[in-house]
Amino acid sequence: MDADLVIVGAGLFGLTVAQQAVEHTNAKVLILDIRDHIGGNAYSYTDEETGAEIHKYGAHLFHTSNQRVWDYVNRFTSFTNYVHRVYATHNDEVYPLPINLGTINQFFRAHYTPSEAQALISEQSAEITSEDPSNLNDQGISLIGRPLYEAFIKNYTAKQWQTDPAELPASIIKRLPVRFNYDNRYFKDRWEGLPSDGYTAWFERMIDSDRIDVRLGVDFFDESQPLNKKALLGKVPIVYTGPVDRWFDYSLGELKWRTVDFKERRYDEDDHFGCPVMNFSDADVPYTRAIEFKNFNPERRDQQNHGKTVVWEEYSRFANRDDEPYYPVNTAEDRDMYTRYKALASKEPGVHFGGRLGTYAYYDMHQVINSALIAFENSIEPELS
Ligand code: FAD
Ligand code: UDP
Repeated sequence: MDADLVIVGAGLFGLTVAQQAVEHTNAKVLILDIRDHIGGNAYSYTDEETGAEIHKYGAHLFHTSNQRVWDYVNRFTSFTNYVHRVYATHNDEVYPLPINLGTINQFFRAHYTPSEAQALISEQSAEITSEDPSNLNDQGISLIGRPLYEAFIKNYTAKQWQTDPAELPASIIKRLPVRFNYDNRYFKDRWEGLPSDGYTAWFERMIDSDRIDVRLGVDFFDESQPLNKKALLGKVPIVYTGPVDRWFDYSLGELKWRTVDFKERRYDEDDHFGCPVMNFSDADVPYTRAIEFKNFNPERRDQQNHGKTVVWEEYSRFANRDDEPYYPVNTAEDRDMYTRYKALASKEPGVHFGGRLGTYAYYDMHQVINSALIAFENSIEPELS
């Protein structure tokens, strides 16, 4: 092994660090991943039957307001002009999300103007007096009032998290805008889109260098193969993007995660939902949402197969150690445990913990890329020069 830097995890954090390392230094980089593909959770592949691009670990939509990240990603891919819009089925009716004037007027069978709707929601949310609610329940009610909260948030959140919303951080729902006009763009960021020729082509271009070696199907904790933690720790700088508690053998306890089971349905139809994402707000539908992948790429209609479509329903549950960790649960107990792991991590010689799993964070792709660019500049590059 003659690498100057070992990166555990070929997700966006690891790929960004690898790309930066060969661009800014003479380092040779070795990337390891336990999976049989690069891209981490943002990996996608083409479904033969329908021609749809399937996002293997759940729907991934790129969006950012960060100029540096936008310029960076555009070096490796162009983006389609896809604009993310989501609909929700509640009591046998379909509503636009995120909550906007269209949702409010349909729900209350009204024709409120923006200021009338704002006045109504202020009245309905007055029960929450805190200026800056710290939990999801209070944050939700204070944003949209109790009736809309109970219709669109309460049951969906119960299915998604199976945790009392009063114990979940407000940040989970702060991501979603609430608008008093008819704008139903899901994201509020300046730029959004999907990679024109797919996620995997984007990621391959990031690491197209003869100084980057990628080994797949390698578990860094498996001592029966040579590229393992015990053999490499202290010998070469390591960027670790796997679960932080796993690194320390769960010595302080296990951080809680949610995972998602996907149930695939195939229909002999061109289009089943008429949109890429349909959320199901009520408790009687056991899944949170259904993704119809073809509809993410309407610009590829000619290359897709007509008369067939594929849909994935998402069933959320607590993750066991062997499951894919998707969403950090982040209760106060988890946050306290993570703080103690972080303190241990900061003392680990020559190891940089990063990404979603390494820092126990609910990060979007643009945030992971940004944090990788910063980590590279501040702490990884100095070790390589
Ligand atoms: P990951 O992509 O998780 O990569 C970590 C890698 O480390 C994995 O490939 C894993 O196999 C590897 N690894 C772990 N342990 C070991 C080991 N022991 N040995 C070797 N390799 C190991 N973001 C958006 O911007 N938009 C979205 O619409 C969006 N939707 C999402 C939907 C879902 C269901 C989920 C779960 C996430 C979503 N995200 C979205 C977030 C996005 O997936 C992440 O921000 C991003 O992929 C994180 O990159 P990462 O490198 O930190 O981690
Ligand atoms: N949410 C909800 N109802 C919805 C959509 C979202 O209650 O129809 C809440 C839910 O708690 C969810 C959070 O808002 O976990 C964030 O939603 P988002 O769509 O951003 O979740 P992600 O795409 O990350 O799963």
